[in-house]
Amino acid sequence: MSRRRDEMLDEMGLSPRWRLKETAAQTAPVPATARSSSIAAMEAASTGAPSVARSSTDAIAVPCGAVGTGVPTIPPVALETAAAIPATPATPAGESERIARVMQMDWATLADTVSGCTVCALSRTRRCTVFGVGDRRATWLFVGEGPGAEEDARGEPFVGQAGRLLDNMLAALKMNRGDDVYIANIVKCRPPDNRVPAAAEVAACEPYLHRQIELLQPKLIVALGKTAAVTLLRREQSIASMRGQVFRYRDTPLIVTYHPAYLLRSLAEKSKSWEDLCFARAKVREWTSDATSAPTA
Ligand code: URA
Ligand code: SF4
Repeated sequence: MSRRRDEMLDEMGLSPRWRLKETAAQTAPVPATARSSSIAAMEAASTGAPSVARSSTDAIAVPCGAVGTGVPTIPPVALETAAAIPATPATPAGESERIARVMQMDWATLADTVSGCTVCALSRTRRCTVFGVGDRRATWLFVGEGPGAEEDARGEPFVGQAGRLLDNMLAALKMNRGDDVYIANIVKCRPPDNRVPAAAEVAACEPYLHRQIELLQPKLIVALGKTAAVTLLRREQSIASMRGQVFRYRDTPLIVTYHPAYLLRSLAEKSKSWEDLCFARAKVREWTSDATSAPTA
């Protein structure tokens, strides 16, 4: 490892003193089967939805009821790869109506709905729902997998050891979670024993994240780890093979990087993750400084 890289890792607080205590989320991909019905229903439900009312309020997390907020329209971006969306099985009865309702919700209704949600089995074992936290006008949306033990206890995403690493990485970019950054997860309730959420749980919860993205209109989504990447992009690929490219979740540019819990175990990946964030920052700067150069969707 070069001196420069050591210095950079130090600056990020990523030196080898970091040790993994939580279970990593960087494991099995989510099967495509249960996802596709919710995706199709979301797409159907959001067509013709009224334009989003935006709030300028910054949101601070509160235990078992954290809420977050929204931002200007994104410039269109280069899409280097198009995701193949799988064929759509029939949507379960009542599910498209639920999704259609979610797609009309404002922030307050969405946060309320999530806090009382019992749609999937994770509701039976959670303590707090973890809605999301940050700036509702954020440029950056970071998406993790699902709450761990500390998040479940506090109702805020990424507040455990992986979260501290994420905060350090943001700080190295001169960013922080309340300022131009919003943080959310694929599922809002903790999977028991920090297991990877099941496909049905992901499918049940994804409409909430989708509505959050519509309300936020971030300029960039950073998918943290494989569950977030596979769920949002509908493609079964390794993080390693997807790094360094701009994908798209519906209309929003998306880049992938390693999950912070995984980074805690691998020094080599930490520096790659830093490269990914620098790549992301360069893209955001490019789009914000010269919107006219951005290709259309
Ligand atoms: N891991 C995640 O994916 N999300 C959290 O909120 C915490 C840990
Ligand atoms: Fe509802 Fe999502 Fe929690 Fe399941 S994980 S109960 S869908 S909020």
